[in-house]
Amino acid sequence: MYFIDVILPIPLKQNFTYSVNKDEAGFLKPGMRVAVPFGKSKIYTAIVLRVHDVAPVGYQTKSIDHILEHSPVINTVQLLHWKWMASYYMCSLGEVVKAALPSAFLLESETIVKLSQNKEIEESSLSDEEFLVYEALQHQSSLHINGVRAILNKKNVVAVLQGLINKGIVLVEETVYEQYTPKLKRYIKLSSEFDSEEKLRHLLDSLERAPKQRKVLLNLFTLRSQTKKPIDALALQKKSNASTSVLKALIDKGILTEYFIKKDRVQYTESDPLETKTLNEGQTQALKEISELFKTKDVVLLHGVTSSGKTEIYVRLIEEMLAAGKQVLYMLPEIALTTQLIGRLQKYFGERVGVYHSKYSVNERVEVWHNVLASKEKCQIIIGARSSLFLPFQNLGLIVVDEEHEPSFKQYSPAPRYNARDSAVVLANLHEAKLLMGSATPSLESFHNAKLGKYGLVQLKKRFGNVLMPEIELVDIREKTKKKQMTGHFSDRLLLEMNEVLKEGEQIILFQNRRGYSPVVECTTCGISPQCPNCDVTLTYHQSKNQLRCHYCGYHMAMMQNCMACGSPTLDTKGFGTEQIETELKALFPKQRIARMDQDTTRGKNAYLQLIDALENEEIDILVGTQMLAKGLDFRNIGLVGVMNADNLLHFPDFRAHERSFQLLQQVAGRAGRTQKRGKVLIQTYNPHHQILKQVSVNDYAAMAKEQMEERYQYKYPPFYRIIRIEFKDKNLGRVQNASAWFGQALEGKLSGNVLGPEPPSIGRIRNKFIYNLMVKIPKTQSLKATKQYVSSVERSFNSIKEFATVRINIDVDPY
Ligand code: ADP
Ligand code: ZN
Ligand code: ZN
Repeated sequence: MYFIDVILPIPLKQNFTYSVNKDEAGFLKPGMRVAVPFGKSKIYTAIVLRVHDVAPVGYQTKSIDHILEHSPVINTVQLLHWKWMASYYMCSLGEVVKAALPSAFLLESETIVKLSQNKEIEESSLSDEEFLVYEALQHQSSLHINGVRAILNKKNVVAVLQGLINKGIVLVEETVYEQYTPKLKRYIKLSSEFDSEEKLRHLLDSLERAPKQRKVLLNLFTLRSQTKKPIDALALQKKSNASTSVLKALIDKGILTEYFIKKDRVQYTESDPLETKTLNEGQTQALKEISELFKTKDVVLLHGVTSSGKTEIYVRLIEEMLAAGKQVLYMLPEIALTTQLIGRLQKYFGERVGVYHSKYSVNERVEVWHNVLASKEKCQIIIGARSSLFLPFQNLGLIVVDEEHEPSFKQYSPAPRYNARDSAVVLANLHEAKLLMGSATPSLESFHNAKLGKYGLVQLKKRFGNVLMPEIELVDIREKTKKKQMTGHFSDRLLLEMNEVLKEGEQIILFQNRRGYSPVVECTTCGISPQCPNCDVTLTYHQSKNQLRCHYCGYHMAMMQNCMACGSPTLDTKGFGTEQIETELKALFPKQRIARMDQDTTRGKNAYLQLIDALENEEIDILVGTQMLAKGLDFRNIGLVGVMNADNLLHFPDFRAHERSFQLLQQVAGRAGRTQKRGKVLIQTYNPHHQILKQVSVNDYAAMAKEQMEERYQYKYPPFYRIIRIEFKDKNLGRVQNASAWFGQALEGKLSGNVLGPEPPSIGRIRNKFIYNLMVKIPKTQSLKATKQYVSSVERSFNSIKEFATVRINIDVDPY
């Protein structure tokens, strides 16, 4: 008798064993996929962990349905890494597998398939069964696995489907599915009715009184005589020193026509790769220090101020790795925000750059997976968000974790609730690779590790080209309000600076950490604000749709005329969001081109790209947005960054609020003045004497770090203590209170003094489920492993209590 232990992509923590025959046992290796039956009628794709001949006790094993491949798609280093993850983050290996593999690798009974579009199909290449499924999909748009079973009149259909997927005929349907759409660039030509000389002369005569428009036309002719290439709208505008409105007038009159051409963004165009830039003295020194430190340390932290040229240093290290034939992983917090970087790396490394991201289609992801698995040159460098950590690297030499302080490296839900930066350290270790973290505002954990000597530390204190750090000014809006020097949410200082900058033809970024028009509607008669019926939050007013919305569950209703509590028509708005700033801006600066960037205006990948392009192409004068604006973007012409209100950042109920505020404000400020001229930043606040704001204004990371560390030490927070958070959720408030109290008491048994709560989080109910949290604080002297084992044992006892059967528990290790 032969058996295999497999991982099923489900939350259950035990091992699953199936029986196989002798041939199968000889063929199967860890990391191969097999289709297996589960429960009464389910099928899953499972990953082989181990082949053996020890029959499990206590139950009869089932046999597998099919072997799905010839060679493993998962390698042994991955399996090791995933086991570490499951154990460290206290989840099941199945949950890690589910997060790790593209869904096309994990067909199961719930999977829905559909025909792939525009694929030439050679019908003779299909087996009879494949043909039957193919034919059925011509008549119905999609099929559930059970439908496929009915058509083929058999149970084991995964192999047939996998065959169709491998041939590219069938796709796995996804809910989050976005096709990559290329970037469009705007061009200008003369409308065809002016083709003859005579008409042209006529036209120029008719423009005698519009010299600016005439100049644009003449310049268009000059450009046309110089090049056969399409004429770039922006270039024409610049050359003619004309504003957008001049160009627009010509288009409106029908004299010029605008048209758009795809400028392929992710595809690499076949030109010779660019030479890398020559490093300046500071960069050369930093690179030398990094290489030196890598001789004795596995991890180095590069702390370099914004625009100090960290990327060029990464590029050098990547070059070295490629030359040594090694793979490189370049991790970024959010890939949608990184097209600028992808472009830069592709210029240097051409086709060797592969991009891996959950917003890409499954097909694209499967392709990258196979390229990495086969160590193809084509994907020797992977740029990706946190999920790129799961790729089947064969010989990883270097991991770069850029913007390592970013909270989005942490996955909060669902499990595995992992931090990709920390998991990358373990991955690098398994590969005996080096890891470089980079940030202008390192997280206190990484900085602490560097100070302790666990990580190497390299600093870059000057901006590239010796551009000065932006000048940061705090504006006291309490004072300004008292003196009646506010127009809406704009102080006279901010308006003055804005006008100056616009006069210079530079652009402005305004930052407001809230979306929506005005977060809170309040009745001035009775003081009541409308609440979400499902969550314990106040609804947010969205002006454009005249709606009240819940940002947690999506509930929405039309904005009411009268207070729902007392009936008075005295509803007022409190607080303000990006939408309101945009409205005020339009009234204050009617002539300027104004745009807004937040979750509401950037649904989908392309909306975001278009805004970035528009800003880059100087088609926007003032951009107002949320923290999306803070992410490592490199614009040339931003003269001023304004922070509308720094206070709601500082007062966020979280032990990291001050650290995060510092990071965010420094990063936002870093968008200003990245070329020769010194940029200006204005931060409006009610608390100009707040320590953090002072530290931001003088750019003093060291002072911030020192002070925050002292607080963390005093109040027993990371990096001095570790935290495990246990979250309890249930429809019934009493039950969730009892359950969390029971758990807390059980923990106290061994961890007395270091268990906090249970207490509800700041939002105590979401989607009609009540929430209570327990926090376990773990001092450095206490074994993390033993603590987790103890928590797990309490969890097992808890699970056997009938009364609490409906209560859901989520355990989050390092929940920050
Ligand atoms: P950071 O990542 O530290 O914010 P970047 O790497 O984006 O900084 O560099 C800031 C700007 O300086 C970029 O526009 C980059 O092209 C330019 N730059 C950096 N290093 C060099 C160099 N050695 N030669 C020329 N330009 C450079
Ligand atoms: Zn009222
Ligand atoms: Zn809600």
